[in-house]
Amino acid sequence: MIDYLIVGLGLAGVSFSETLQQNQKTFKVVSDESQNSSLVAGGLYNPVILKRFTLAWKAKEQLDLALPFYNGLEKKLSVQLNYKLPVLRRFVSVEEQNLWFEASDKTDLGEFLSTDIHQNTNPNIDAPFGYGEVLGTGKIDTKKLIQAYKEHLVGQNCLLPETFDFKALRCETNFLEYKSIKAKNIVFAEGFGIKNNPYFKYLPVHGNKGEYVFIKAQNLKEKDAIKASIFCIPEGDDMYRIGANYDRNGLSNKPTGKAKTELLAALDRFIKCDYEVMDHIAGIRPTVVDRRPLIGQHPKHKNLYLLNGFGSRGVLIAPYAAQQLYHLIENGMAVDQQLDISRFIKKYYED
Ligand SMILES: Cc1cc2nc3c(=O)[nH]c(=O)nc-3n(C[C@H](O)[C@H](O)[C@H](O)COP(=O)(O)OP(=O)(O)OC[C@H]3O[C@@H](n4cnc5c(N)ncnc54)[C@H](O)[C@@H]3O)c2cc1C
Repeated sequence: MIDYLIVGLGLAGVSFSETLQQNQKTFKVVSDESQNSSLVAGGLYNPVILKRFTLAWKAKEQLDLALPFYNGLEKKLSVQLNYKLPVLRRFVSVEEQNLWFEASDKTDLGEFLSTDIHQNTNPNIDAPFGYGEVLGTGKIDTKKLIQAYKEHLVGQNCLLPETFDFKALRCETNFLEYKSIKAKNIVFAEGFGIKNNPYFKYLPVHGNKGEYVFIKAQNLKEKDAIKASIFCIPEGDDMYRIGANYDRNGLSNKPTGKAKTELLAALDRFIKCDYEVMDHIAGIRPTVVDRRPLIGQHPKHKNLYLLNGFGSRGVLIAPYAAQQLYHLIENGMAVDQQLDISRFIKKYYED
């Protein structure tokens, strides 16, 4: 009997698998390619909500945990994953500059907001009101992480590359069986794939589609990530990732012409040089109605657990959420009430 079966190998599945390995637990992962949120993610980690200049929920705690976590994975997998990347918020008015200064005076935000206005020096960008710089930002190459972790699990004979067959799952009081596997617990980490999970689909994961276009702009020569109405993120070799948009409709992994037109229109409002569109990708963020992750134990089947609902901030949340779930299962430590799936039990499960 192994300790865990995990379903899904995105940021949630990788973070939980790694937490298990750090604690010498045995496990196997079942994952298919039906969802790709972690593969298409920009991978930015940024503790500040740039629309309102507020600190993201528990951002400091998450950052303190996430950076050593990814740095540990870099060493273990022998790949570079963490790239320091300044994030510049483009101001559209003097009022916005003042709001930024006010925010940078607040104790919790101060350490993440530079108090200088950065003047734009790039002739191919229009930013007459300059930028505010967010401190402590960077980018995790999530695609490289998932691919490298997958190879690592294959090497350990821990990965079953298939769609989880719910009909093959038998839940007993103290263990469960899936095909020839016997495990003490199962953790579902399927991202938006939760919609097909008969045990947890009652939870209010709405999903939010995001698309990026990739452009090649030889004259842009920008090294920082610029946040205007959309992000322009340098990817190296004169390539830039533009996006992402947010769309609650048409929830599929297929890119759309409509999003491409909107993203390029937003780009044209602040980029002044020529570019060529090279690629276009899409994915679905597993967003929850109250914008908090979903962690916890199934209300009836006590060895079924969930790790989901990372929304648009999976990079920072995943290691933190995985740790909360691990301590719940192994040490009986309660999950933060704001994350516990029990918050939805009355409204969605018992009705
Ligand atoms: C366009 C876009 C940009 C983003 N940018 C950022 C960013 O810059 N920074 C940031 O922090 N976050 C970003 N995010 C959000 C981030 O990607 C998500 O929060 C995170 O990837 C969710 O991870 P997950 O493991 O829960 O889900 P997923 O990545 O979707 O992984 C779930 C895995 O489970 C598998 N699966 C599902 N159902 C089954 C099944 N029945 N059987 C077997 N396998 C199954 C799927 O195929 C997939 O491999 C972005 C998201 C999008 C879409």
